[in-house]
Amino acid sequence: MKVAIVHNQEEKTLKILPELMECLASHQIEIDADHPEVVISVGGDGTLLSAFHRFNHRLNEVQFLGIHTGHLGFYTDWRDYELVDMVESLKKNGTSMPSIQYPLLDVVVHYRDKENSGHFLALNESVIRRVGKTMVADVLINDRLFEHFRGDGLVVSTPTGSTAYNKSIGGAILHPELPAFQLTEIASLNNIVFRTLGSSMVIAENDWVTIIPDSADDYHLSVDQLAMGNRDIEKITYRLAAEKIQFVATRHLPFFTRVKDAFIGEV
Ligand code: NAD
Repeated sequence: MKVAIVHNQEEKTLKILPELMECLASHQIEIDADHPEVVISVGGDGTLLSAFHRFNHRLNEVQFLGIHTGHLGFYTDWRDYELVDMVESLKKNGTSMPSIQYPLLDVVVHYRDKENSGHFLALNESVIRRVGKTMVADVLINDRLFEHFRGDGLVVSTPTGSTAYNKSIGGAILHPELPAFQLTEIASLNNIVFRTLGSSMVIAENDWVTIIPDSADDYHLSVDQLAMGNRDIEKITYRLAAEKIQFVATRHLPFFTRVKDAFIGEV
């Protein structure tokens, strides 16, 4: 088996890396930074997001596994003191590793300037917002005008991303087995003149959402933790991606146990 390691620079992470490498070597698991079968992320959810963006051109060939060096995260099933158990579970399952797949968001952006389009995949979400001035945009569902939006911005999230930024702005939590995505407002302006739905919306798998902002060169677009710069965006189309992310599921916490552990704790 071949694995790649993606890690952050936190002290706790750097401390366990030599032990991880030694453990992999003693189990004859090879490091291959270019063509791995398993990508091991060591750090937090942000590290797993970076690992996804580094290997998102090989989604059919790789499975991801997260080791957390802080609190238990959403994409991390193993803790830093469980390296031996984790490596043994990889060795035991070999190439017939049990896996679980989660939906991703397909993001197509058209810019008004010369470099006129971009295509991205998001694991958590994509955010379009305008800082300093009100964002004004048309929101279309399946090419039909749904509403005129005014406010700070809009977040479009995957089911696994629903517990991240989306949750902070009042969106619902979606079970990741649901093939759907969610559109959630950031501080919409609602008064006698301007009106948006106000609630977040869960969009079905074959539907698509298009956001057409009024022309301005200071829209801030992000895909997970990647900032796409401030550009004049003509339109963005969001739909569920054909690709999915696969996680190693030799150990798998039920989704709502994870949600409870992260947000509620002991009851
Ligand atoms: P990071 O690794 O510090 O992540 C920020 C926090 O979000 C961490 O506590 C992390 O555990 C948590 N997180 C990430 N993905 C999650 C998920 N799917 N479910 C629940 N919690 C999750 O920083 P980063 O590398 O910049 O991470 C980027 C992510 O941070 C973005 O994708 C976005 O979801 C999140 N974020 C949240 C807010 C907010 O809640 N107001 C604002 C900006 C970004």
